[in-house]
Amino acid sequence: MSVKAVHARQIFDSRGNPTVEVDLVTAKGLFRAAVPSGASTGVHEAVELRDGDKSKYLGKGVSKAVENVIKTLGPALIDSGIKVTDQKAVDELLLKTDGSKNKGNLGANAILGVSIAAAKAGAAEKGIPLYAHIAELSGVKAPYILPVPCMNVINGGSHAGNALAFQEFMIAPVGAKDFDEAMQMGTETYHALKTVIKKKYGIDATNVGDEGGFAPNVSGAEESLDLLVTAMANAGYEGKVKILLDVASSEFYKDGKYDLDFKNPNSDQSKWITGQQLADYYHSLVEKYPIISIEDPFDQDDWEAWKAFTAKTKIQVVGDDLTVTNPERIKTAIEQKSCNGLLLKVNQIGSITESIEASTMAHGGGWHVMTSHRSGETEDTTIADIAVGLGCGQIKTGAPCRSERVAKYNQLIRIQDELKVAGTEFKYAGSSAFA
Ligand code: PEP
Ligand code: MG
Repeated sequence: MSVKAVHARQIFDSRGNPTVEVDLVTAKGLFRAAVPSGASTGVHEAVELRDGDKSKYLGKGVSKAVENVIKTLGPALIDSGIKVTDQKAVDELLLKTDGSKNKGNLGANAILGVSIAAAKAGAAEKGIPLYAHIAELSGVKAPYILPVPCMNVINGGSHAGNALAFQEFMIAPVGAKDFDEAMQMGTETYHALKTVIKKKYGIDATNVGDEGGFAPNVSGAEESLDLLVTAMANAGYEGKVKILLDVASSEFYKDGKYDLDFKNPNSDQSKWITGQQLADYYHSLVEKYPIISIEDPFDQDDWEAWKAFTAKTKIQVVGDDLTVTNPERIKTAIEQKSCNGLLLKVNQIGSITESIEASTMAHGGGWHVMTSHRSGETEDTTIADIAVGLGCGQIKTGAPCRSERVAKYNQLIRIQDELKVAGTEFKYAGSSAFA
């Protein structure tokens, strides 16, 4: 069935910034998608089109992207007569209509909104859930895999107003038997962490950052890791819950060095460290704490540092700003053995088909894949279905706090419940997601 109407509007994300929402209509009904937005964005990401008119929304309006959906992408899709079940053809048309390599003409935010709405319409057309449609599109075989929720419970970097350089301290309940138990372990550890933080720093230290994690004014990574270890033990999950980091180090790479005090305007340049010194620091942290994964340990173009670290460590090394969900950069990273895990963010590349391609390529290279939200999110839960449909085994969508984060975890609870009720075979990824 083809598309009857496409409409778009400007709505707001979890940080109060404008973003694009698309409504796509077929004979089966209306299908809606909203587009997320990052703060620590990689320079190689597809272009997010913003109006740039500083007198409105600090230049962040998306009226041009909305107009591009209404006047250009929508009519092109309707006129093409392409069936919504043919996601590849839909996305090819959207890319061709934009005509640029980085989606800079019409905006990745405009294109992605239509692409996701079409995927939802395609699933409805087939009469199957979105995750099942994505599994069919990507050729991922049964059984369905429920991902390990990697919950960002301490926020730093560009996501929080504290001094902490590292952006994300995540907990992963790898020892749970299924997704429900993983949520129990994750939420109980989150609450135990709140108690630990409150006791140590006072009630005002329990305020949360952009992704719902706490943002205490700790001095550095080790103080944060000590808090996590205490919380995990207090919650009774020692050994069952592990730690992941997203350093997001491109945010503090300056003149070939890494500045761990980058939020201080008077940062002392003599204290900036080299990639090798930073790598040594990571190795020492991995020795001391139950860390199983580090994302963006080095700058997005510091390829040599990535390669040297990945060769030396046994843990997962995840590319986010390095690979930007872009099949071309992923190919290079596989060839150069720069990392061994992919962060999959649909808005970094801007279409469902290219996201599937990125995941397939990463899996083919022997990598694990973690589906990811952005720090600016909406109530759209598509990434939960993507994680299951692509058999990712890992998802990060913030702390179990704030509805734009919990919405995705809740969708995964629904998916697992649906599979149980239907008697469809599935398994919880658990520690195999990181093996
Ligand atoms: C990340 O860096 O992995 C992240 C989710 O943050 P942002 O959306 O700000 O890039
Ligand atoms: Mg990241």
